[in-house]
Amino acid sequence: MKTCLIVDDSKVIRKVARHILETLQFEVDEASDGNEALNQCAAREPDVILLDWNMPIMSGMDFLRAYRASQNSAAKVIFCTTENGIAHIQAAIDAGADEYVMKPFDRETLETKLQLVGCI
Ligand SMILES: [Mg+2]
Repeated sequence: MKTCLIVDDSKVIRKVARHILETLQFEVDEASDGNEALNQCAAREPDVILLDWNMPIMSGMDFLRAYRASQNSAAKVIFCTTENGIAHIQAAIDAGADEYVMKPFDRETLETKLQLVGCI
């Protein structure tokens, strides 16, 4: 079973994403900010990370830079962005994101992105 770490400060988004990922047979962990996500990745490397951009304490971008600079950083990263954040996509790819998904996402969109990064 593949593992996915959902990193988002919104409990509602984490819940929706968890439901979708579980129907796609993923084992799911959650973190509510980048710092928590870094600690979780150090303890247990996920196969894929679904990463929000705007979060308190540590943003998705700061997490991504720190994560890709760390020793075990092989997880695929799918960045979540909004219509307003579309200009950030290139910056996220440059920082080491593998794919991006627009919020709000549905099952089909997420499934397609997971296929693109080779996780299903
Ligand atoms: Mg957020």
